[in-house]
Amino acid sequence: MTSWDTEERRALRASARRFTHAEVVPNLAAWEDTGALPRELHRRAAAADLLGVGFPEEVGGSGGSPIDSLLIAEEIIQAGGSSGLVASLFTHGIGLPHVVEAGDPELIDRVARPVLSGEKIVSLAVTEPDAGSDVAGLRTRAVRDGDGYVVTGGKLYITSATRADFFTVAVRTGGDGAGGISLLLLERDMPGLHVSAPLRKMGWLCSDTAELRFDEVRVPAGNLIGEENRGFYAIMAQFAAERLSLAVQAYATAQRCVDLTLAWIRHRETFGRPLASRQVVQHRVAEMARRTDVARVYTRAVVDDWLAGEDVVARVAMAKNTAVEACDSVVDDAVQLHGGLGYMRDSEVERHYRDSRILGIGGGTTEIMTEVVAKLLLR
Ligand SMILES: Cc1cc2nc3c(=O)[nH]c(=O)nc-3n(C[C@H](O)[C@H](O)[C@H](O)COP(=O)(O)OP(=O)(O)OC[C@H]3O[C@@H](n4cnc5c(N)ncnc54)[C@H](O)[C@@H]3O)c2cc1C
Repeated sequence: MTSWDTEERRALRASARRFTHAEVVPNLAAWEDTGALPRELHRRAAAADLLGVGFPEEVGGSGGSPIDSLLIAEEIIQAGGSSGLVASLFTHGIGLPHVVEAGDPELIDRVARPVLSGEKIVSLAVTEPDAGSDVAGLRTRAVRDGDGYVVTGGKLYITSATRADFFTVAVRTGGDGAGGISLLLLERDMPGLHVSAPLRKMGWLCSDTAELRFDEVRVPAGNLIGEENRGFYAIMAQFAAERLSLAVQAYATAQRCVDLTLAWIRHRETFGRPLASRQVVQHRVAEMARRTDVARVYTRAVVDDWLAGEDVVARVAMAKNTAVEACDSVVDDAVQLHGGLGYMRDSEVERHYRDSRILGIGGGTTEIMTEVVAKLLLR
């Protein structure tokens, strides 16, 4: 038995599966049409003991290790959810760790507890119109003024931003480069904070994404998350978790597409025989399963090593690229084998095809992952 397959984790999977079947599958198409998840879903996920997994009980979470939260994402996707749903329902997975890590009791009570109970929503706002891959080049400025900061600038492509109550925002408090960046908690009702209309996207349609503008937003000094000018390192420290989560979403999406395709080719007949009887189809689905399994086994091995305290920066990047590459290929094959149905909004593989395109862009692009590996090899 591996650490991913204990009795407790099988129960957690079963609970994530029940939640997905009861709360997500019947409503996902409607949420894709409206472009956002209802707040009530966050409360229900908390009630099902899924939302707080991976966060300590002392801050309002339900405990468990990162493997538990990764398994929840994996199971939700494989039970008929989607990576878009996971990104939006679990945005606190990227927005909250910095607050928890910093350990300020006041921020934990005001932000972490209500987020983990599903009452409030938090987004992470790092990307700017002129600074995406180049995080150290961000320009949003926070100038110290009396007992607080005045924030001016803007952020782009922020997940859950049209619904968020809190924003963990990367700002420039010091000089140029990585050493001048801090994290500040901005709150939705702060004067001067403007959230755009939802941005229209290719996929992740149930996950709202927006642009933020800060016009001299006054932020109390108590909203500083962690130490001033240490924000870049706090962001980097969380990258392993985010990248591994995206790798898991990629192989889980691929696995779901393998499962859907197997069911389809057994059922669909052409020229008087099921598609599954044709060797060319059998080989194609076998190849889809192989790519998926390689991505899963490799990603999980890197997660295990990460949790064992090994230096896995390069292998995290390799895992993300391996899983994304597998997913891109598998979703494409799944649509192809579904024929015209694969191009229809009513078929689930069509959603996975659109949703998976972001996995090689968000959390560090495929090219930046390769750059990370190359730099570490050549240092
Ligand atoms: C749906 C969605 C949700 C998102 N959610 C969030 C969020 O919640 N919070 C947040 O902060 N951000 C979020 N993002 C932003 C995301 O993290 C960025 O889009 C991503 O980091 C890439 O940055 P960019 O778009 O500026 O692309 P760029 O950095 O401009 O890159 C453009 C292209 O150039 C390549 N490139 C860049 N630099 C190099 C180089 N040195 N060498 C070779 N190639 C290079 C990239 O790989 C890419 O192919 C989201 C984006 C999307 C689309």
